[in-house]
Amino acid sequence: MLKKLKEQVLEANLEVVRRGLVLYTFGNASGIDRDKGLVVIKPSGVDYDKLKATDMVVVDLDGKVVEGRFKPSSDTPTHLVLYRAFAEIGGIVHTHSRAATSWAQARREIPCFGTTHADYFHGPVRVTPELSPEEISEDYEANTGHAIVRRFEGISPLTTPAVLVAGHAPFVWGATPEDAARHAVILEEVAQLALATVALRADCSAISDCLHDKHFLRKHGAGAYYGQT
Ligand SMILES: [Zn+2]
Repeated sequence: MLKKLKEQVLEANLEVVRRGLVLYTFGNASGIDRDKGLVVIKPSGVDYDKLKATDMVVVDLDGKVVEGRFKPSSDTPTHLVLYRAFAEIGGIVHTHSRAATSWAQARREIPCFGTTHADYFHGPVRVTPELSPEEISEDYEANTGHAIVRRFEGISPLTTPAVLVAGHAPFVWGATPEDAARHAVILEEVAQLALATVALRADCSAISDCLHDKHFLRKHGAGAYYGQT
């Protein structure tokens, strides 16, 4: 079942390892088949060099395992909350990539310091509020998802396909698992550039809205003209 989606999810998991975003098993990627209402996600704690498409776990949107011999990733409830809330997204990637995680640990949003950021993320890369002790002690992973959803109130998730979970790390998404993995790689680059920017100039401000919108909208707006059409 869902052979193609399992291959796409495996590939997204491997891509973030190849790009140096994931050490050991610190990460997970998933994808959703919206017609079937089923999510394919990496199994928990299986080494990446042994991971096969057939090892991927299929769960429904309530987290019930529908297919697979392994347990799904422990972050599965976070993915499910995001899929339920963000109808436009088709893939999610979670990593502890170094620079993006540094911003999450500092509990600072990443301002848009330049056009590399503006090409992919409209507005800053936001950070969630910290979870309360109650949210941490019970249903922690689902509550992580709820904190992300609350942070995106009034914001389209596809215009800024990433968030920093305070004190934890980024969650990144896209229209497909491949898109989500690409956004995770780009987020890490943007986070590294931002770290270097504040090291060089601590009081640096974000670029103008005019330049930010120009870059974002030429790639993603109604009149997008970047690339080959
Ligand atoms: Zn994590």
